[in-house]
Formats: sequence, structure tokens, C-alpha cells
Amino acid sequence: MNKIQKVLIANRGEIALRILRACKELGIKTVAVYSTADRSLKHVRLADEAVCIGPPSSTDSYLNIPALISAAEVTHADAIHPGYGFLSESADFAQRVEESGFIFIGPRAENIRVMGDKVAAIEAMQKSGVPCVPGSDGGLGTNDIENIELARNIGLPIIIKASGGGGGRGMRVVEKEEDLLGSIELTKTEAQNFFSNPEVYMEKFLTTPRHIEIQILADEHGNAVHLGERDCSMQRRHQKVVEEAPAPGITPELRNKIGTVCADACKAINYRGAGTFEFLFENDEFYFIEMNTRIQVEHPVTEMVTGVDIVREQILIADGQPLSFTQDEIEIKGCAIECRINAEDPNNFIPSPGKITQYHVAGGLGVRVDSHIYNGYTVPPYYDSMIGKLITFADTRHGAIIKMQNALDEMVIDGIKTNIPLQVRIMEDETFRKGGMNIHYLEKMLGEPH
Ligand code: ADP
Repeated sequence: MNKIQKVLIANRGEIALRILRACKELGIKTVAVYSTADRSLKHVRLADEAVCIGPPSSTDSYLNIPALISAAEVTHADAIHPGYGFLSESADFAQRVEESGFIFIGPRAENIRVMGDKVAAIEAMQKSGVPCVPGSDGGLGTNDIENIELARNIGLPIIIKASGGGGGRGMRVVEKEEDLLGSIELTKTEAQNFFSNPEVYMEKFLTTPRHIEIQILADEHGNAVHLGERDCSMQRRHQKVVEEAPAPGITPELRNKIGTVCADACKAINYRGAGTFEFLFENDEFYFIEMNTRIQVEHPVTEMVTGVDIVREQILIADGQPLSFTQDEIEIKGCAIECRINAEDPNNFIPSPGKITQYHVAGGLGVRVDSHIYNGYTVPPYYDSMIGKLITFADTRHGAIIKMQNALDEMVIDGIKTNIPLQVRIMEDETFRKGGMNIHYLEKMLGEPH
């Protein structure tokens, strides 16, 4: 390593542990930060140093920029890894980190800023040749006649989306023309209230799309590669539940075509680091919806089928090193499936924090468990309910499903409720086993259509 000798991990839970492992393998020292509710986190015990950054509430701890920067200063860290969630997609945080003299393990602040504004992101993507959903080509104006005309041209149903939106909020589907103007006004008001930005735009509403995303890596030296796709269509309320790589039915030709478009777009916008292009996929066409400028929860399935350690690459890129492989050296081999394990009631999805009284972990060839939990660990009520990820890998998709069924069966997490019974149901489901279901399938299966 050149510049990075010590990394501060600005996150918690499984991803903090994942980052710590990558640092250790690279011989890099680690600093954990934790809220007072997280003193007993596994990575806090394993890190070289640990700093308490505040009370349980995320606003006062993991989202507290001055506390994080101070922690980096007192421990003499060289770089900060934001993980996912929390401040990972805050352009202001990335900027503050760099202005304070630390390396941000992620993209440049200006790239994060553009991608955080959906209208700006779509414009940048269109310029770079990435296929987008037919829509308004920018924010909507105030002329009602023009907006009605636009909706007619696109063809109903359409979806109104807030430019500053995120997390599945600030969107409204319009089926009938008479609802259009009211829906625009409502979404604008919501957008102003939630995101302090009233700008909204219009897109064609795709009725039965799949969610397929492309993982990319780009370095400081103008190299960019794609690592193929993931299918994340198994979702409930826009939350991914199961992810897999490769996506069923995507041919190598299609993968290379869309992957190359994404890698080229990274070069065009001077992108640095890991990133994901999210697409809706319908009738064999890809439609860009957004770019995530961070490591994603589901990155392990890509790691399993490519053999690339994405977190390691993030650190090496931030250190200024060129990518250690070329596109030709990337080969997609086998199939990987990830089941998110949440501390929640599998029937009503209500979070179920508390003490884990018994923990037996799955294992064996092709089974990977990314989790920070252990026997006697107490899941705090303050944060996301995901407590780990179970990943299986085999030569075929069928093999990966069988392994997942066995692994889910082996997992014992007592004392709290988990969604393991739901994952068992999904693995048994005929439509899932066929593959290629659309993003509404899980809600239909659960009897809660949108
Ligand atoms: P967010 O940043 O809030 O996650 P996205 O733009 O990624 O917003 O959209 C979230 C979800 O909303 C998508 O995964 C998809 O389920 C649905 N969605 C968004 N745009 C469309 C569209 N044009 N047609 C159909 N569904 C859409």
C-alpha cells in the first residue's frame, strides 16, 4: 500500500466487519467507531482501535460528521470507508472527509452529488449512451397543458418521481389522465417536505419489470470494468430480500453489451471506485433508473461468481492503484444466491430486536455467512433489522438453491424472530425456482399486491 496505512470504518454491523476483514488481509490497521448501543459489536472487538462517537440515535453517532472526522483525527487514520447506508451517499461527507485531509474510500464528491439528483443523473447517463426509461427529459415545468401532452406522448401509466427522492419514497403512479395534475402537485409537495427539493419528473411506468443491476469498478487511471449483473427482483416494498448472480436468462452477449455501456459511462463521467447501475428490465430491454455510488449489500453474489474481492478493490483504488485486472480477465463462473437475514417477524415484518440465546451457523463448501452476530449478542432496536447475509455458490442455479435450502435449515437463531421461514418459502417457490420473476412477484406471493 502507498498512502493508506489505517482505515476508519464509518459504519456498523456486518458491513463494518466485512471492511475490517478486507483491511486485515491487506495489512492495513483499522479504527472502529461505535454508538453507546454498539459497544459489543464484533468488529469493535477485532479492530486495532475503537472510538465511541455518540449515543444510540444514528443522527448523533453514525450520521454525526464532526464526531467521525474527530475520531479519524485522534486516531491518525489515513482513510475513511463509509460502507452502505448512513453517510455512504452523502456528497457533503465525502467532501468534508477530503477537505480534512483524509482519503474517502468511494467516488469523488461531485460524482456522488450528480447521482444523488435523479434528473441530473439521468441527463448524465443519456449523454453517456446509457438506455433510460422514456420520460420527461428533465424536471417538469408548471405548464399543465404541456404536462398532459407529455403524459399522452409517453403513454399511461406513468410515474411521477421526485428528483431528490430515495429509499422508494417520493413516487406516484398515474393510471388515468384526470389524476395527472393532482398527482404532480402532491408529489411536488411531498418532495419539498421530504427532500427539500420540489423538482419532479415523469417516466413511463413499466408494469412487469425485473430489477437487474450492473456492478462496476473504476480506477484513477481511466480504467473501468464491469463485473456482470445481479438480479434483485425479489423485493418487498422496494426492499431487496433475495439477490442472485448471474441473472437468469441474460446471455453473455446481452451482459457484455450493457456492461460495456456502463463501464464506458464511468469513463465518460470520470467515475472512481465501486458503483452499481440499477436497471429495470422488461421485454429484453434495459432501462436505467439510478446509480448507487457505494458498496451494496448484495455485492457478495458478484464476488462469488467473479472471484473479485470488491471491498479490497475499493481500498486499492482509493490508494491510487490501477485495477489489478482487465475486462478480458473477468469470467462469470457458476451461480450465487444471497438471502438477507433480518431480525423481524416473518409474518408481519415487524422488527424483532433482542438477545440471541442460541446461534448455530450454517457451513460447508459454497456457503458464506457475512454477519456480525454471535451467541449472546443483543440486536439493538435503533438500526436496520438486517443481521446478516447467507450466500451460497454452486456450478448451477439449482445447485445454489439446494445449498441455500440446506444452509437455511442449518441456521439456528433463537431468542429473536427472523425472516428465515420466509426465505425457506421463497426457496421452495416454483416461480422463484424457474427464475426471472418480476419485482411485484414477492408481494403477490405474500398476498399483498401493490
Ligand atoms: P429509490 O431511489 O427511491 O430507490 P428508484 O428510482 O430506484 O428510487 O425506484 C425504486 C423502485 O420504484 C424501483 O426499484 C421500481 O420498483 C420502482 N420504479 C421506479 N421507476 C419505475 C418505472 N419507471 N416503472 C416501474 N417501476 C418503477
